[in-house]
Formats: sequence, structure tokens, C-alpha cells
Amino acid sequence: MLSLPENLPQQCFDAELLGNSEASWAAYREAIALAQELLINHFAAQSQPYSGTSPEDLAATLDKFNYFPKVGKNLQQVLHTTAKIILNNSVVVSHPACVAHLHCPPVIPALAAEVLISGMNQSMDSWDQSAAATHLEQQMIREVCAWFGYGEVADGIFTSGGTQSNFMGLLLARDRFAQKHLNWSIQQQGLPPEASRFRILCSEVAHFTVRQAAAQLGLGEKAVVAVAVDTGYRISAVKLQETLEALKQEGCLPIAIVATAGTTDFGSIDPLQVISEIAEKEGIWLHVDAAYGGALAICDRYSHLLRGIDGADSIAVDFHKLFYQPISCGAFLLKNRLNFELIKLHTDYLNPESHAEFGMVDLVTKSVQTTRRFDGLKLFITLQAIGQKQLAEMIETTIKLAQATANLIKDDSDLELVNFPTINAVVFRYLPGEIELANSINQQIRLTLLGTGEAVIAQTQINHNVYLKFTLLNPHTTLTHVKEILQRIKEIGQVLSEK
Ligand SMILES: *Cc1c(COP(=O)(O)O)cnc(C)c1O
Repeated sequence: MLSLPENLPQQCFDAELLGNSEASWAAYREAIALAQELLINHFAAQSQPYSGTSPEDLAATLDKFNYFPKVGKNLQQVLHTTAKIILNNSVVVSHPACVAHLHCPPVIPALAAEVLISGMNQSMDSWDQSAAATHLEQQMIREVCAWFGYGEVADGIFTSGGTQSNFMGLLLARDRFAQKHLNWSIQQQGLPPEASRFRILCSEVAHFTVRQAAAQLGLGEKAVVAVAVDTGYRISAVKLQETLEALKQEGCLPIAIVATAGTTDFGSIDPLQVISEIAEKEGIWLHVDAAYGGALAICDRYSHLLRGIDGADSIAVDFHKLFYQPISCGAFLLKNRLNFELIKLHTDYLNPESHAEFGMVDLVTKSVQTTRRFDGLKLFITLQAIGQKQLAEMIETTIKLAQATANLIKDDSDLELVNFPTINAVVFRYLPGEIELANSINQQIRLTLLGTGEAVIAQTQINHNVYLKFTLLNPHTTLTHVKEILQRIKEIGQVLSEK
């Protein structure tokens, strides 16, 4: 018998922890209701996508906080104070003039799901921490695999986003190559001597996380070979084949090709069908980075743009971009689930092998994370509530807007259009009278708009020249909004040109 100390101090923490008592529920209700009110009031007061506050002023305001108080304050007061400073100086992603980055306004069903996710606080690493959540996520992954034409032997895992999914694709490609061609287990033995000759091919406009993953995987950025793109910013299949031949001639070992379905700057989609044929013929792992363009898979009108994606060994898809999910939510998909064996580990405390006998699935074996949020629920609830048809309509609205925007820019002699959009990214620049000033003027146009807070637009570089970019993810943005922003760009450009 355990003997309990006579006077065990009894403190209940009911107001602090969500649990099973009236006091706890009351505190929770009040806290969540207030957070909602603050957010709604904030949106109601927003006339522009950013306050325009400078980094210095913002730092000065935030530095006044005591970040580690000994004694807490009333939550209402804390939320009010924090909301005033943080919310008022945040970027309003739902504002029609917030058109920078692949950063979406979140759909309401997913926000309700977030309340459940945080309140339940399931952890997706082992079945005994998540039960129903594990099964639901698995089924959701099966469904997502089917969108991309993957069959019964496919599998996948929810991830924090494209960065993690691309890392996983290249991790498995690397380990599979060593196992198959060198009879070497990198998981057990570390990198083989041949690793310095491993090469990864991708387009010159592929996402930087391909280089990042190569570095993290011990191959170095030098392992990434950029293949030239055509005028539509898509990998040239001819150049890809030539590069492969040249690398083999030099004694290099191409372990993976990364194709992009929706490049971050241009939304361009590499010729997936041809690339997958090349990868198959050469026996090289094909990873498709569909972080951005993967959403086209659910659009009847545009899914043909992804033709050939089912030939990929692995796919990265993000839900916190064109699927309108709150950050973070992405998935890594694997054509043949057996390849997950390459990274499988067992730990006695978390996922003992005996769990399988009891029909318990521990998702930790497929993830590079251990403790992991139940983000699959957001996508599930979104699809249940909104349905494929309407979600696709939201996406299609933004694609049409991008096309109309490109037409406006093309017909304007003060502006230069770079790409006709495949998805919803439009790259262009203001053309000043003196073209030598174009770089500094375009850079200043963007900073001016951010500084006044009237529009948040993006910037990129092509051949050392500065360009402006709209990523038109928000279905609330209309052509009228776009015209207003373009007008302001021209006005600011003109003033700067006359200086
Ligand atoms: C956004 C993006 C990534 C990175 O994904 P995160 O979700 O930000 O980690 C990778 N590739 C492409 C093409 C992207 O657009």
C-alpha cells in the first residue's frame, strides 16, 4: 500500500488547465470568447493590410513588455494589451491588398478545427496518444494520395510544410540509392564514401529548400545541379537529359530529380510526364515539389496540368497555401510505402514492435518529427464543410484573377509583364524612363507600399534585375483592387523617377 502524506497540498489550478470542472469551463469559455472578439474587432477596424509601423518603432513598443513576470495578470487584461500591439501591427492576410507570398487567408472551418486540435492536444507520434486521430489522418492521407493518382501501395504523412516534405523526399531518395546501388544502409552506417559524388537535379528556379535539404543531408549544396529552364520557367527536358549524361560522364551519381509543380516565383509547372519517363528510364528517384501547385489536383478544370505526377516516387504538397489552411499543414506522399522502412526506428517507450500485434499504428515511424500536431483534422473538417466543388471554385477564382491581371499589365506601357501565369503568381516591374533606375525604383515601390501599409506585395530577382510579384491567393481580391494597386505602383514609380 502506498501511504499518502497526511497534508498533501490541494491546489486545483482549475482556472489554468482545461479539464473537467465548472470553473475550468468558465475560464476556457471566457478566454476563447475574448480572443474571438479581439480578432473580430481587429478585422472590423482594418482599412489596410499593414499598419505601416517601422521595424524600429515596433521593436521599441514590444521591448516594453516584461517577458517573464513573476506574478501573472488577469487574462482579459493580458489579451487586450497583447492584441492591441500584436494584432494592430500584424500583416492582415485576408485583406485584398495583401498579395505577397504564398500566404493565404484561412478558411473558417479550419479555424474551428484549430480550436478542437489545441483543446484535445493529441500527439500524432503514437497510437496511445491519439487513437482516433491516427486513423483519421491515415485515411485523409489515403485520400490525398488518390488525388495524385497514387495507388494502394502509396502512403504518406502530414508535415509542417514543403520544407519538411522536400527534406523527406531527398532523405529517402538518398537512402534508397545507397541501399539499392551500394548495398549500404545510411541509417546504420552513415554516408558511404561515394556520397561526395551524389547529385540532385532540379530546375534553376526550384525552391531553395532543395539546396537546404542537400546541405542538411550531408551532401552539400554543391550536390544540387540546376538545370536550365525554357521561356516558360519550366525545366527543359532536353537540358535535363544532357545534364544527366554529362554528370554520368564525370563519374557523378545522380540520386534524385526534383521537379516543381508550381514554382514559388512563377507558378510554372515542369513537364512532369516527360521528366517521370526520364527518371524511370534512368532508375532515378523523382520527387515532385507540389507545395504550391498541388492544389490543382482537386480542380477539375486544371488537374490536367499535373499530368504525369503519379510517376513520382514522392510528392510534397502544402495545405497552408492554396488549400487555405491555417499554418502549418502539409503532406509528404510516397508512391511505395515500403520506402518508409528506410527511416523506421523503434523505441521501447513509444512504439514497441508489439503494438502492431494489437493493431495499433504509430505514425512516428514515418515522420521526422516526434510530438506532432493533429493538423490533418483541419483539412478533414474543411473538406467536409466546404466540399471539393466550392474549394476548387475558390482556387479557380484566383487563377482567373491572375490571368486578368497579367492582361492588364501586358497592355500597360509603364509596366513590363514577365510571365503569363500558370497558377496565380504574376511577375512584372515598373518601367521608368531611365531603365538603369529600374532596380532601385522597383525595390523602393515595394518598400513604400509596405511603409504606408496600403499594400503588401512581393519582390524577386531575375538575372540580377528586381521585379515585383503579386501572388493572388485571396479569392476576396478583385480586379478593381488589383487596378488600384497597379495605379499606386505607377504613381510611386513616377514620383521616384522624377527625383
Ligand atoms: C512554399 C514552398 C516550399 C516551402 O514550404 P513551407 O511550407 O514554407 O515549408 C517549398 N517549395 C515550394 C515550391 C513552395 O512554394
